Amino acid sequence: KLYNMVQDLKGNIRVFCRIRPAFCAETKNVIHFIGEDGTLVVSDPSKLQKDGRKVFQFNHVFGPSATQGDVFKETQPLIRSVMDGYNVCIFAYGQTGSGKTYTMSGPSGGSTEDLGFNYLALNDLFLISSQRKDVINYDIHVQMVEIYNEQIRSCTSDNGLNLPDAKLHHVNSTNDILDLMKFGEVNRVVSSTAMNDRSSRSHSVLTVHVHGQDVSGNILRSCLHLVDLAGSERVDKSEVTGDRLKEAQHINKSLSCLGDVITALAQKNSHIPYRNSKLTLLLQDSLGGQAKTLMFAHVSPEEDSFLETVSTLKFAQRVS
Ligand code: ADP
Ligand code: MG
Repeated sequence: KLYNMVQDLKGNIRVFCRIRPAFCAETKNVIHFIGEDGTLVVSDPSKLQKDGRKVFQFNHVFGPSATQGDVFKETQPLIRSVMDGYNVCIFAYGQTGSGKTYTMSGPSGGSTEDLGFNYLALNDLFLISSQRKDVINYDIHVQMVEIYNEQIRSCTSDNGLNLPDAKLHHVNSTNDILDLMKFGEVNRVVSSTAMNDRSSRSHSVLTVHVHGQDVSGNILRSCLHLVDLAGSERVDKSEVTGDRLKEAQHINKSLSCLGDVITALAQKNSHIPYRNSKLTLLLQDSLGGQAKTLMFAHVSPEEDSFLETVSTLKFAQRVS
């Protein structure tokens, strides 16, 4: 309880971690301990000595058996605050294959079970909207954009042009959202077959715009940004050239800019370097001030991911 209060005093930045289940039970696992208070200890299973262990502290850690519902429940108050006028950003960070898209959208292949955060969040916003319908009239629009090589592109407009043309879609029900998400996914998949799994090398941003008007005519406006970030894995510069190298450099730069912005906000610096990347520039109004941020670090439990896992956890610890 006290710990939560301390976190709240620290500001509006929260950091969660999720560990996906291992693909194969025989593989050695790097997760050593998960505490209910948000402690996470990882160790290199091949180095049994004590100094192979690293201890991290987050607001919450979800182990491999956590369900989509468990994750959503912990995040629900944050999401609900959007309906009270707060801007909220949620970032899924981690190496490719660590479960970012699973958390945000659900399992691959368009299954309607285990739907992710994007769906559960919007569903919840509609529920609140109907519960409050006698006192406040809400209007909800969504927008899906992708940032690839520092260029912003709409996933749901017909022409795929940059942001000013990114279409705003009015949504009335969760079915509307499912349709839109499918459409957006299809658009991303088209480009990914053309460009070899581009989805792991672009940031995808689903923005929910909320407009509310109460009986006395007071207006409330807020945004919820749900961001599935590009894979954070380090690319060996000696092994890639050309387009791949350029992509890797853009990803490194934008993820480190995001880290710099959140760290500067956590430290309450007077200068926040929003202008150093398209992503932070796009989200500028929803990062800082009264806005709330959740950095959701995703890690793979397998031994061969140990170095990437540590690097993800260090990144997440730095911004908390
Ligand atoms: P990323 O988006 O970070 O590259 P994915 O979300 O695509 O990773 O996850 C990689 C694979 O692991 C997918 O097949 C996904 O369905 C599976 N997966 C990820 N997280 C979980 C989880 N918590 N439970 C079950 N399967 C998961
Ligand atoms: Mg993904």
